Amino acid sequence: MGTEALDKRQQQQEQLEILKSSYRSAWEGAFGQFMFLMAEQYSLELTVSVNGQMAESPIVKFWKESLQSLTPNQMREGLKRYMKSDRRSFKPTPGDIEENVKDVAGVDKPIKKYSPDCGGCHGTGFRMVERRSKLTGNTVKVAVDCFCVRIEYDEKSVAPVERQLPPPSQEDLEKVAAKIGNVGCRDQRLVGGRQRDRPHIGADVGCP
Ligand SMILES: [Zn+2]
Repeated sequence: MGTEALDKRQQQQEQLEILKSSYRSAWEGAFGQFMFLMAEQYSLELTVSVNGQMAESPIVKFWKESLQSLTPNQMREGLKRYMKSDRRSFKPTPGDIEENVKDVAGVDKPIKKYSPDCGGCHGTGFRMVERRSKLTGNTVKVAVDCFCVRIEYDEKSVAPVERQLPPPSQEDLEKVAAKIGNVGCRDQRLVGGRQRDRPHIGADVGCP
């Protein structure tokens, strides 16, 4: 892999990290508001003093762990609904909040998108590649993200690193096509993928 390809891969990795951390801060912000409202309503201690230092109280830690799977919008909506319910005078449990948003789609988080009519994965988002198992040393088939997969969040769209290997050069493609011995199999992305995933290409490589 050339330097350019490594740069590209690193860039992609960084973009993914930025996307994740921007979701992380949106989540922390929503959680902060959630706990603030809870504290106001149910007189909770949000901070405790540990050796003279202010720290998150155990109740905040407990709620933070319990609400991990909810998105910012689900947290807000869950609490809003609870506050409107007959039980609002009782302190809710995380289960109460989750129960309240069972019908609220968690779309405000990074979401994996793939093409339903992609020829590489037939709309599954996965393609199979061969890898050497670190455990046994045997070659095993594993599912990785297809070339059509994108991770979308907050109007940004990033390709997962797995598919961000460099596109093969025309020369490489021709070599591979010649080795495969099937001129009908000219899907550049697929040939490129197989070439990269399988260092030793045999005549057994079929066309999709
Ligand atoms: Zn695909």
